[in-house]
Amino acid sequence: MGLRSADQYKESLRDGRTVYFRGQRVHDVTTHPVIGLAVEHACIDYRMAEDPQYRPLAVVKNGDTEYSRYYHLPRNSDDLRKRSELIAASTREGATLVVLIKEIGTDALLALHIVGERLAAAGKPEYRERIHNYYRYCRDNDLAIAVAQTDVKGDRSLGPTAQAHPDYYVHVVDQRPDGIVVRGAKVHTSVSTNTNEVIVLPTRAMRPEDRAYAVGFALPINTPGLKLIASPHGGTPKDPFEHPISARHKMMETLTVFDDVFVPTERIFLNGEIEFAGLLALTFVRYHRFTAVSYKLPLLELLVGAGAAIAEANGISRAAHVRDKLTQLAAYHTTVRGLIEQAASSCTIEDGLAVPNTLLTNVAKFHFAHNYHEAVQIVQDLAGGILVTGPAVEDLTSELTRDYVLKYLGGANGFDAEKRLRLLNLISDLTASDFGGYQEVLAVHAEGGFEAEKLQAYREYDFKSVAAYARKLAGI
Ligand SMILES: Cc1cc2nc3c(=O)[nH]c(=O)nc-3n(C[C@H](O)[C@H](O)[C@H](O)COP(=O)(O)OP(=O)(O)OC[C@H]3O[C@@H](n4cnc5c(N)ncnc54)[C@H](O)[C@@H]3O)c2cc1C
Repeated sequence: MGLRSADQYKESLRDGRTVYFRGQRVHDVTTHPVIGLAVEHACIDYRMAEDPQYRPLAVVKNGDTEYSRYYHLPRNSDDLRKRSELIAASTREGATLVVLIKEIGTDALLALHIVGERLAAAGKPEYRERIHNYYRYCRDNDLAIAVAQTDVKGDRSLGPTAQAHPDYYVHVVDQRPDGIVVRGAKVHTSVSTNTNEVIVLPTRAMRPEDRAYAVGFALPINTPGLKLIASPHGGTPKDPFEHPISARHKMMETLTVFDDVFVPTERIFLNGEIEFAGLLALTFVRYHRFTAVSYKLPLLELLVGAGAAIAEANGISRAAHVRDKLTQLAAYHTTVRGLIEQAASSCTIEDGLAVPNTLLTNVAKFHFAHNYHEAVQIVQDLAGGILVTGPAVEDLTSELTRDYVLKYLGGANGFDAEKRLRLLNLISDLTASDFGGYQEVLAVHAEGGFEAEKLQAYREYDFKSVAAYARKLAGI
């Protein structure tokens, strides 16, 4: 009970879980050459809690007990601001890659708290009780939690029951006196290979015929029948000189299969209440997009910083077009940062919890995602084509090549060839490697795609007032 060390976290992952990588069963995720990297990346969370520099931010003291700030229930703007700061600080430690092993799980727990209150008000207090017990269990044991919300979905134009087979959305196949049995698969489930628990949420609102699909629950990752098929994307061995970020930092995603999995009653948070499925899906997203924009900040800081640094190394800082492009990057970063701060400041209090302003959160996420590829383009433009044509790390040590590399690849302002190559490799890893591609797809799709963000923003914006103003000035 209480805060765990990184070693205790790692030990907890050796629990017989069913994980596959490239068709092979992984017996110990902590020692696997690719998943082990993700485990080490996740350790950042536990190490920060022990680090005097971060402890006041990362740990909350409540009487005699201490627990991770992620588990702190936000009651006001300041709580949301500190949550956002912690997410950004850990992502900075992760060299722009979010850690996520508590961020996403507590987003789901906060949503469950709110929906639990609404279920209790609708005459179903048993769910609230289970949610509170589960929350305390995770908090007091300092657990790492994945969230599986996105179903595989089959034909996107059809609802769950209209699909070619019934398992394109996770659903209940058996109701038992002591629990339920679920079948189906979720996809893109981040960090699931290296968490202790997974919370499963519906991905959309449900119609009356979809009752079996209106299901929410939580399971330990080593539950029988729960199978994780890990994505190998970005999993080739890398040299830290050539890939200063992705050689050391990794996040895993899985196809998460529920092969007739038993869920005991105390772990069921929604079971057929169709009118609450959409509410649960959306309340999770209201928190999760705030997490998303919070963890994007270090990435934007690095894009602006790398742009400025490579302009200096290439001797082009004073050129008018370069200043213009750097200003564009700075404005992009500043806009997202300002929107996050304002989303926390103008939060609403719902069922006792502070919820970030939904309009500002979605506008921030959309602004980030919509402009990300253009920001990458600017940094690549300033860096030059050597991002994908430069020499290997071995060329700096080989007697046959070293002198040529050092002689010909130097830059301006004290950037000798080695310094300039280090900077170029950082930019190449961030924008032109498989990690760069991962970041681009992450920007577009993770935490919901463009259309989902626009839909939320459209719903939240006060069109009535502005239309009334327009009518008034038109004399109508
Ligand atoms: C790196 C990464 C990590 C992620 N981590 C998690 C995680 O931890 N947990 C989790 O639950 N999810 C996670 N996600 C999933 C993420 O939320 C989804 O990718 C996102 O919601 C989009 O869903 P999709 O990928 O199935 O794409 P789709 O929904 O298939 O979207 C593809 C296109 O189809 C369009 N479309 C879809 N449905 C319709 C429709 N009915 N009508 C018209 N157009 C439609 C979309 O607008 C889009 O243009 C992650 C995603 C990524 C990329």
